[in-house]
Amino acid sequence: MPDVFTTEQRSLVMAGIRSKGNKETELRMMALLKANGITGWRRHWPLLGKPDFVFRKERVVIFVDGCFWHGCPQHGRRPGQNREYWDAKMLRNKKRDRDVTRELRKRGWKVLRVWAHDLTRARRARCLAKIRRSLETQATSNAPILGFGHLTADTVLALPPPPSVRHARLGR
Ligand SMILES: [Zn+2]
Repeated sequence: MPDVFTTEQRSLVMAGIRSKGNKETELRMMALLKANGITGWRRHWPLLGKPDFVFRKERVVIFVDGCFWHGCPQHGRRPGQNREYWDAKMLRNKKRDRDVTRELRKRGWKVLRVWAHDLTRARRARCLAKIRRSLETQATSNAPILGFGHLTADTVLALPPPPSVRHARLGR
């Protein structure tokens, strides 16, 4: 059967699906944090790898990954067609995720990667406990190194926020 999409069209379609899938997971995570009184996070703070949630003070980031596109071992599936294309795409995604994690860790960030399936009713308590633990551990381990008042834009952020984002943040 012929492929109805060009490569470019297909990647656009995919980007749409991907962002939609991630958006729902992100909103679920946001609700979970709020419901449990966990504060101090920003969404989409401009940082290497574009983490979904950034706790700047504790230096903890959370990526919420859709099971499908990031190749969760339980739910990552390959579409029947264009196997090679999808396999390559999936491998690239996973490699990029790994590289980002490694680089952020080098810079003192604790990186949490949460699958969409971690936020189900049955599993989210465990996920929450992990987040809490990370925040506590990081708060403790950061204190003697950075102290108070030494968190500069330089040490906290890998990249300065683009003007549009900065403006939007200030406007809130
Ligand atoms: Zn999954």
